Amino acid sequence: MKNKPTKLIVEDDRAVRNLISTTLSTHDYKYLLAQNGASALLEASSHNPDIVLLDLGLPDMDGVDIIRKIRSWSNMPIIVISARSEDSDKIEALDAGADDYLTKPFSVEELLARLRVTLRRLNYIRGLSDKESSIFINGDLKIDYNLGCVYLNNDELHLTPIEYKLLCLLAKNVGKVLTHTYIIHER
Ligand code: CA
Repeated sequence: MKNKPTKLIVEDDRAVRNLISTTLSTHDYKYLLAQNGASALLEASSHNPDIVLLDLGLPDMDGVDIIRKIRSWSNMPIIVISARSEDSDKIEALDAGADDYLTKPFSVEELLARLRVTLRRLNYIRGLSDKESSIFINGDLKIDYNLGCVYLNNDELHLTPIEYKLLCLLAKNVGKVLTHTYIIHER
């Protein structure tokens, strides 16, 4: 089953919540809903949404505290959607770790544009980390898994397919002792 990324909408005002959720579903975004801070934290930790859309004025908790709590364990993007329009409110939320700040009343078009910007940034960051994880470096040894090339002191090593597979297996298990049986099984 395809695991489509999910947005988490945190909003206690039903009309605003409906507006946001309708907008998201019209544009084929999956979403989860939370009406207060406690359920926002629960949904965020159990479903790992790719973006949180967060109201600040919630019945049980201030949204800024939710930002701080989420930031203690995750970098998931948080877009604040709040009626608080003072600079000091925006600065406090952004300093606490929010990625963006949208003031109510907001237009649906602007919300969608902010979502696109955040998703673009997210994809860019994910692309970077994919690239990093496809290269293994240990001392003078470098393996580029994408190219299937191995370098020692920047000189390419010409390995047989079996040698290459063995090296990759060892690289993935750096610091561990591999038994003969394990290597035979894994290669
Ligand atoms: Ca509210």
